[in-house]
Amino acid sequence: MEFHHDILIIGSGMGGLVSAVILAKEGFDVCLIEKNRQFGGNLQTFSRDKTIFDTGVHYLGGLEKGQNLYLFFKYLEIINDLPLSKMNENAFDYITFDNDEKKYPHAQEHDNFVKQLSKFFPEEKANLQAYCKKLQEICDDFPLYNLEEKEVYNTDILSLNLKDYLDNLTDNEKLKSVLAGSSLLYGGNEKTPLYVHALSVNSYIQSAWRIVKGGSQITKLLIKKLRKYGGTIHKKTEAIDFNFEGNTLKSVKAKNGKTFYANKFISNIDLKTMINLTQGKIYKKSFQSRVNSLDLTPSSFSLYLVFKPKTFPYLNYNIYHLKEENSVWTASSCDSKKWPEAYMISFGQSKENQQFADSISVMTYMNFESVKEWENTFNTEIDENDRGKSYQKFKEKHIEILLKELEKKFPKIRSCIQSVYASTPLSYRDYIYTTKGNMYGFQKDSDYALKTFISPKTKTSNLFVTGQSVNMHGIMGTTIGAINTCSRILGRKHLISKIKNEVNANEKL
Ligand SMILES: Cc1cc2nc3c(=O)[nH]c(=O)nc-3n(C[C@H](O)[C@H](O)[C@H](O)COP(=O)(O)OP(=O)(O)OC[C@H]3O[C@@H](n4cnc5c(N)ncnc54)[C@H](O)[C@@H]3O)c2cc1C
Repeated sequence: MEFHHDILIIGSGMGGLVSAVILAKEGFDVCLIEKNRQFGGNLQTFSRDKTIFDTGVHYLGGLEKGQNLYLFFKYLEIINDLPLSKMNENAFDYITFDNDEKKYPHAQEHDNFVKQLSKFFPEEKANLQAYCKKLQEICDDFPLYNLEEKEVYNTDILSLNLKDYLDNLTDNEKLKSVLAGSSLLYGGNEKTPLYVHALSVNSYIQSAWRIVKGGSQITKLLIKKLRKYGGTIHKKTEAIDFNFEGNTLKSVKAKNGKTFYANKFISNIDLKTMINLTQGKIYKKSFQSRVNSLDLTPSSFSLYLVFKPKTFPYLNYNIYHLKEENSVWTASSCDSKKWPEAYMISFGQSKENQQFADSISVMTYMNFESVKEWENTFNTEIDENDRGKSYQKFKEKHIEILLKELEKKFPKIRSCIQSVYASTPLSYRDYIYTTKGNMYGFQKDSDYALKTFISPKTKTSNLFVTGQSVNMHGIMGTTIGAINTCSRILGRKHLISKIKNEVNANEKL
């Protein structure tokens, strides 16, 4: 079967969906194809024991009226229908450590952030103020973060290193670890640029939100808008064959036999996977070598617990736990003797009894090498048993280690558990098609800051790329990335002024 469209988007992650809505709103006939049964990539949710779990989005920032993600979502026409619940204002995240009873809060709003942490570090108030100012200055230097047209970056900022910055800010080792305590958000290590930390953390300090019923609500609303503007979508449609004529992509063939012709194409597929799929035809050899030399962010082992009713309190914040102060820099390397060196807990609220949690998700790092033994198995089905018994045993062993860690902070947690599930780097690889189940695209390195800046344009004249392996990850990062990609088709000035005009017009209504 053949389909003809103006624009074909391959992959329905956040970057693909946002690009699709932007271009459909501009009058293009847009078609989006997705290999999975469920749209959304990392926005996907799954249900176990009548409980909904997120796979890759636990909270969002910048959604207070007038803040940047609010304005982007307003333009995309999803903000009014997105069910949001605001997280604890005095602590949307707590940073905790082994052998320390204290819980160190990250609070919403910059002044409040300083106020709440100053209670634990009274002598560091001026440094905390300087830290908040620096975060905001850095974000202000990213034009699209603030809906500005200019394309020039302050490149000096890109090579500032997070650890160096904190070492210069204060001598207080605990405070440094607390400030970088949520580094699981971006796979932080000693090479992490300060801008990656600032762009990831600052929007949560502005305002922090959970999506009621999970990240798939964003997918649902974006698909509704795409359809409203005449777009079409195909699930279970995996792009496997790319037909080029010279420097132009003519069509894409899917595994289910459908062939899609289009004038322009946007790939939302992980960049390394896309280079493999197109047998290197979309980039010059030198660029391919550059991409292949880039380190990937680590993958994740995630534990999902369903609680017995009314046994575990709902906590309206996340917990980032670190074994030691230094774990903030070392956990992502996944030293098996220390595993898990850091983990993040997010709580699911019970619908019936809102003061109780019906579930928690616990995310920790895991390298692909840990599951290499089963790399030739492939599964996107609910029942993962067909990777074999040894894989089940591997999962059970790691579930037990992680549960023992959780018991250190929540001694009675085991008695609250109704059922237990887990995912590994193989789950992320198979659902998203990232090469090694990497969570956030490429690892950023302050010593080679420009190496991970990837243009949305390819060598192929009518093929563009978007998503977390092109610049920044996260819902904010991939939304801004999609605007950047679409501006190559629509013109940056045109798109930014369109967004600004529409958002302002809507605000007045
Ligand atoms: C564990 C985890 C927790 C996270 N928590 C948060 C959070 O709390 N807040 C936040 O803002 N961000 C979070 N993120 C990051 C965020 O989810 C991602 O950065 C973002 O969703 C990635 O979007 P993307 O556009 O790159 O698309 P992806 O999510 O990478 O999706 C790509 C899509 O392309 C499809 N595809 C691949 N190959 C093909 C093919 N050949 N044919 C058709 N389709 C194909 C895939 O199936 C997939 O649907 C988290 C990520 C992870 C992994």
